[in-house]
Amino acid sequence: MAEGEKCVLCNGPVAYKYAAMKEWNIKGVLCSKCYSKKIFEHYPGEHVRVNLDKE
Ligand SMILES: [Zn+2]
Repeated sequence: MAEGEKCVLCNGPVAYKYAAMKEWNIKGVLCSKCYSKKIFEHYPGEHVRVNLDKE
C-alpha cells in the first residue's frame, strides 16, 4: 500500500481522510472516529439534539 497516512490523534490508520478544521489547530488528517469526536467537542449539540434536562 502506498498510503501511510495516520490519524494525528489516535495514530491509527486512516481509511478515509478527514481534514481538520482550521480552528482546531490540528495539522494532518483525522480518522472518521476522531473527526466526529472533534466535531462534537467543538460544536456540541449542533448535530445531536438531546434533551438532558433532569428537572
Ligand atoms: Zn483517529
